[in-house]
Amino acid sequence: MDIKRIKKFANIVNTIILGLVFGLMFFFVLCEVPFLVYYSIPTAIVYVVGYFLIHKEKFAVYVWMVYIWLTLYMGITTVCLGYGYGFHLYCFSMIPVMFVTEYISYKLKRRSLKAISVSIFVALFYLICTGYTSYYGPLFVRDQKFAAFFWIFNAIIVFSFLIYYTNYLIRSVITSEEKLTEMALVDRLTQLHNRHYMINCLEALSVESENFLIAMADIDNFKKINDTFGHNAGDEVLKAVSQIMKNECEGCEVSRWGGEEFLILSSSAPPDGKDMLERVRSKVEAEPVKFEDKIINVTVTIGMAYRQSGQSVDSWIQAADDKLYVGKNNGKNQVIV
Ligand code: GH3
Ligand code: MG
Ligand code: MG
Repeated sequence: MDIKRIKKFANIVNTIILGLVFGLMFFFVLCEVPFLVYYSIPTAIVYVVGYFLIHKEKFAVYVWMVYIWLTLYMGITTVCLGYGYGFHLYCFSMIPVMFVTEYISYKLKRRSLKAISVSIFVALFYLICTGYTSYYGPLFVRDQKFAAFFWIFNAIIVFSFLIYYTNYLIRSVITSEEKLTEMALVDRLTQLHNRHYMINCLEALSVESENFLIAMADIDNFKKINDTFGHNAGDEVLKAVSQIMKNECEGCEVSRWGGEEFLILSSSAPPDGKDMLERVRSKVEAEPVKFEDKIINVTVTIGMAYRQSGQSVDSWIQAADDKLYVGKNNGKNQVIV
């Protein structure tokens, strides 16, 4: 959330409210309520000061000043004209805005009033003003046709705002949840799914999934690659190997299991599974990685295991790992079935 956007948004909102204040001032002149006409003057000054506060990036002061003044404005207009005009309805729309203000302050790491306390204050003020006016009646009794117009106008604005705003909030929550899920399940460097995601996939398989294979692939002598060419070169190798696996293992789930190890899940029946992994191995060997002006030769060793009937996920992974171990001890750069 950048400051420039917040400033622009705050200026637009401030201008709209200021316009409304003048519009309402004109209406109060029409229906001859001089008190509310005079009251509109300090209200307009509040919003002019608002431009200054926005310019100085004093958002918290601006927002709370506006909220407090809006609440007073709604209360006073309700007491003067009665709640038949619907000015008190705006109190409902202010509550979600206050909570979002607290949230934005938290995101910007700025101090803010607690929305819960201010909401309770608004609710109490609402009850006092509407209670007073329903008991004693409005201070200024005016033509009912104005009341009907304002009731409908204000109710439409409050409903539209609440629908738009709640929808916007929910969309933001969904988008941010999707981003978090992606961050939690996708490896940043290789863009492959991570170990956590793969464990979920494996555990979701039925125990009777004997036609499924997993392959544990590990880059050979990767420490030496890092030591010789540098860590950035090592990262480049990880990306290149991941890309080869993604291309050669179409329809499979390829994950970065950790460090320079990858776990592939496939439903390929024998001998297709072994052929696919052999293609991965030979492609990695045949395509050295270019990094800056260096050419890096890379190989991988792969251990593969079909699931045995009733075998647990852990022992299935262990079986593939054992095969990988055999390959590593037998000269590396091979696929062990
Ligand atoms: P082997 O052939 O037996 O597999 O030996 P190896 O050197 O590949 O394995 P070893 O476990 O000794 O070293 C793995 C190295 O991988 C050590 C670690 O620093 C490096 N590594 C782990 N994650 C990353 C990474 O994200 N980027 C880079 N550049 N290196 C990593
Ligand atoms: Mg290795
Ligand atoms: Mg390793």
